[in-house]
Amino acid sequence: MSKIINSIFHVVFLLIAFSSLNFIELIPKRYLPILELLPFFLYILSLILGYRFNRSLVIYSSSIFISCYLYFWFLPHWSTTQHFLALNSLAIIAAVNIALISYYSERGVFTYIGIIRLSLIALFLLIPYWLVNDLSKNYLQMINQVIFPALEVKLVFFKQSALLAILLSMIIISSSFMARSNPFRSAILVSLILCLYALTLPKNHLLSQAVITSFAILLPLISLISESYRMAFIDELTNLPGRRALNETLAKLSNQYVIAMLDVDHFKKFNDTYGHDAGDDVLQLLGGRLKNVTGGGQPFRYGGEEFTIVFPGSGLDDVEEHLEQLRESVANRKFSLRKQERRKKGKSKKSATGRQVNVTISIGYAEPSSRNKTPTQVIKEADKALYKAKKKGRNCISH
Ligand code: GH3
Ligand code: MG
Ligand code: MG
Repeated sequence: MSKIINSIFHVVFLLIAFSSLNFIELIPKRYLPILELLPFFLYILSLILGYRFNRSLVIYSSSIFISCYLYFWFLPHWSTTQHFLALNSLAIIAAVNIALISYYSERGVFTYIGIIRLSLIALFLLIPYWLVNDLSKNYLQMINQVIFPALEVKLVFFKQSALLAILLSMIIISSSFMARSNPFRSAILVSLILCLYALTLPKNHLLSQAVITSFAILLPLISLISESYRMAFIDELTNLPGRRALNETLAKLSNQYVIAMLDVDHFKKFNDTYGHDAGDDVLQLLGGRLKNVTGGGQPFRYGGEEFTIVFPGSGLDDVEEHLEQLRESVANRKFSLRKQERRKKGKSKKSATGRQVNVTISIGYAEPSSRNKTPTQVIKEADKALYKAKKKGRNCISH
C-alpha cells in the first residue's frame, strides 16, 4: 500500500515539476537571479541534512544533480560539438552513478568508505569537463557510436550510447526499488528523469534548468525528512505507531474514549522455548493483526510485548465485542515463524524456523471516570484491568 502511495506521490511530483516551467514567466524579473541560485541553496541544505541525519546517499545524489547544473552555467560558452559531448557524457555519468547509489547501503558520511564513494563520484563528474577541453576525436566517435543501426532516430536528443546507459541504469534502479522498497530509491529515479530532462533543454535556458534541478535535489530531501519522521513515530519491529505517537494521540482525546492495554501471555516462556528471534517474529505478526482491530480502534506498541489500543469517542460497552473478536482472532491464529533462532551457547532450544505456534493475549480496558480523568490515569486503570484478566487465567478481556 505504501509503495502505491509513494509511486502516486512521485508521479504527481514529476507533473508539478514539469508544469512549474509554465510559471517562470510570471515571476518578477528582480527575483530571477534568486531562482538561478536556488539549486545551490537546496544543495547546501541537503549537505547539512544529509550530514545531520547521516544519509550519505542524499549527499551523493544531490552532488550529481548540482554538478550537472554547474555545467549548464558553462554551456553558453562552448561550441556545438563541446555542448554535444558534455551533455551526452553527463547523461551517461549521472545515470550510471545514480544506479550505483541505488545499490549502496548507508555507510556514513565521513567514514573511510563514505569519502571514497564521494571522491569517485567527484572524479566521474570531472570527466565531461576534461572531454570538452581535450575534444579528442576518439571520444566523440565513442559517444557517436551507433550501437543499433535499425533504431537510429535523428530527432532523439541523446546518442544511442547515452540512451543505452540511461535505460540500463533505470532498470537497475527500478529493480533495486522493487527489491528493497525504499522510498529513497524511487525518489532518485524520479530525480534522474528530471536531471536528464534538464540536459535536453536548450543551452540558454538556465532558469528552466534551475527549476528542474531544484525539484531534482528537493525530492531525495523530502524522502529523507519523511523517512526520519516515520522512524520517530513508527516502531520498526511491529510497524505500529510507537510510544511517541501514542502520547500525541492521548493529548488530542476528548472526554469520551476507551483505552485498552494488551499483553502477550507467558511470553517469557515463549522466548525461552523458541528463542528471542522467534519472539520478535510473533510480535511482528501480532502487529499486523492489531492493525485489523475493528470499532475504530487505533493500535500502538506501548513497549516490549505490550500494546495499547485507543478507541476515541467510544464507551466500554461499544468496544467489548471488538476486543473480544481481536483476542479470539489472535488465539485462533497459527503464527508461522520465519527467522532463524539465535542459539545461546550451551542452551539448546526447539528449532523455530517454519514452525506454527500459538500465542494468546490478555486485555484490560478502561474509560474516563470521576476518579480517572486524564488519559494517564485511564491507562493505569486499564493496566489494573489487565492484571485482573491475567489473574482470571489469561486469554481473556477485563475492565
Ligand atoms: P504474563 O502472561 O504474566 O504476561 O507472562 P510473561 O512471561 O509475558 O511476563 P511479562 O509480561 O512480564 O514478560 C515480558 C517478557 O516479554 C519479557 C521479555 O523476555 C519479553 N519481551 C519483551 N519485549 C520483547 C521483544 O521486543 N522481543 C522479544 N522477543 N521478547 C520481548
Ligand atoms: Mg508484559
Ligand atoms: Mg506478558
